[in-house]
Amino acid sequence: MDKYDVLKKYFGYSEFREGQEILIDGILAGRDVLGIMPTGAGKSICYQTPALLLPGITLVISPLISLMKDQVQALNQAGVHAAYINSSLSESQISKALRLAAAGQYKIIYVAPERLETCDFLNFAGQVEISMLTVDEAHCISQWGQDFRPSYLKIVQFIRQLRKRPVISAFTATATETVKEDIICVLGLQAPEVLVTGFDRKNLYFAVETPKKKDRYVINYIGEHASESGIIYCATRKNVDILYEKLCGEGVLATRYHAGLSGEERRQNQEDFIYDTRPVMVATNAFGMGIDKSNVRYVIHYNMPQSLENYYQEAGRAGRDGGKAECVLLYSAQDVIINRFLSDNKEQKAEYTPEEIEAVRERDEERLKTMTYYCTTSNCLRAYILHYFGEKEAVSCGNCLNCIREYEETDVTETACHIISCIREVRQRYGINVIAGMLAGDDRAKLREYGLFSYQSYGILKPMRETEIKQIINQMLIDGQLFVTNDKYAILKITEKSDEIINGDKRVIFRRAKMDEREEKKKAGEKAASGAKTRRSDILNSRGLELFEQLRELRTTIAKEENMPPYIIFADKTLVDMCVRAPLDKKEMLKVTGVGESKYNRYGERFLQSIREYTGGVREKFYFGEE
Ligand code: ADP
Ligand code: ZN
Repeated sequence: MDKYDVLKKYFGYSEFREGQEILIDGILAGRDVLGIMPTGAGKSICYQTPALLLPGITLVISPLISLMKDQVQALNQAGVHAAYINSSLSESQISKALRLAAAGQYKIIYVAPERLETCDFLNFAGQVEISMLTVDEAHCISQWGQDFRPSYLKIVQFIRQLRKRPVISAFTATATETVKEDIICVLGLQAPEVLVTGFDRKNLYFAVETPKKKDRYVINYIGEHASESGIIYCATRKNVDILYEKLCGEGVLATRYHAGLSGEERRQNQEDFIYDTRPVMVATNAFGMGIDKSNVRYVIHYNMPQSLENYYQEAGRAGRDGGKAECVLLYSAQDVIINRFLSDNKEQKAEYTPEEIEAVRERDEERLKTMTYYCTTSNCLRAYILHYFGEKEAVSCGNCLNCIREYEETDVTETACHIISCIREVRQRYGINVIAGMLAGDDRAKLREYGLFSYQSYGILKPMRETEIKQIINQMLIDGQLFVTNDKYAILKITEKSDEIINGDKRVIFRRAKMDEREEKKKAGEKAASGAKTRRSDILNSRGLELFEQLRELRTTIAKEENMPPYIIFADKTLVDMCVRAPLDKKEMLKVTGVGESKYNRYGERFLQSIREYTGGVREKFYFGEE
């Protein structure tokens, strides 16, 4: 058996994705590897495939209990012997699992890092051949990452205690250079094959919207996406509760998740979501780590998150199956204030020095700034994200709101010059509110108190409204023509680029969105969009959609029988492909993406039967377009 056989037999796929092969080949050649790939890129297959080809056992270290269970279920479904060992099992279950493991029952074993130093586990590890040690969510080992877990340091000690050092493979979706270096260094990877795949998720559509009534927006959105699964993230528990009540009041099948609920309720709600009994989840950012649900079709952020790292991770939970999905952020200026409040009140680690606390605060402020610019830029949103994560060549994508929306462009160089002069005149001592208020000639007590009425710039842009001036200042900030300090005063400063404008070397063009036509544009764009055309109604005709529903019901029935999430039985994508190919026998069924031998043996016949019933055994075309 080679890697291609494994891919087809166990996972039902016929080709590797970008990057997977490089890592698999590295491992099989005995090299350490580090794979940095975005969520949904297919990291699991990178270690599961070689694990099945290596002689001994593969240990997978993962911090997330729910994810372990999911992965092990999925592997067992695929016909791979796998088990997990973590605190959700009783002591006697653990010793039983270890006994079976020592007897060679399992090829892949998922372990929580805390387990590594227990006597039982070390004892077991001494008896068997461990071919590979895989570290999932490897960024947890970095003290600079956002999710540092001290227990991850135990991995290093564990490796040292093994008789023979196994191949080490590490995976993460966190991309910054410091974290990458930390992983290599702390884990002690030896001349590793490091692969960073593109961070672009082409199937995701990005948008920032600024609706006056966010609730209404969400309710309408869900109405337009009925029967699809989605997540709505809110900044606070209170917001979650309020929105959840509202949605339920509108008859939406919603559930909720935040740290204020009991463990039992959280578990139940999570399950309702995963099993699609309640396909809409309203949650704080406590929800999602380790959620592997592949058919999430949209992620809406009701509030702006605290950083672009958080945003991309949370939004990235949409469309893991590679099908089209949407990431919408609902922005209001209020969100910036909420976030500043949250970060100011963050628990500070006791052992930090005042300097360190200040450094952390500044870093948070910088992240918040990046996030705010994302919400206010008029340029391509995807390009903004990719650029932030270090992909330099990013340009307009054609699949985000800013790319498909039309703009009116106005030359505002003169206004920009007044703004810069004003900042200079007050000797760079004030923030955006004061500057904009001053230029608009606002009669605020605060401005009088500061004695700003007597300056030349006061009221110089008078017929303009303060909000308009702020928008222009914002664009100048994003373009680096102005700068705002990271301390709590957020003072506006001028930069080298400001001079270019004053000297007449550079003009400032302000882009304002035309609001109307864009929905149609989006629809046109969707049709024309290259690649990911996997919304099932785009592919399947009405007969095909009916068949899809029938197969979906069958899947739900089986899921209930086996007490297993539906997507672990077969992904939506697999069901769509079944409708397209409409297989009538085993050979044809095995060509469907996601149908491997083991799954065929389990469920193939029942699905074939369902398709035969529907078609009466007659060939029929269930999709649009050519072969
Ligand atoms: P990650 O861990 O990187 O977030 P997963 O390993 O969960 O991603 O994979 C995401 C999805 O992509 C899964 O549904 C998986 O089955 C699918 N997938 C992975 N590799 C392939 C492939 N070569 N061909 C088709 N689908 C794949
Ligand atoms: Zn774009």
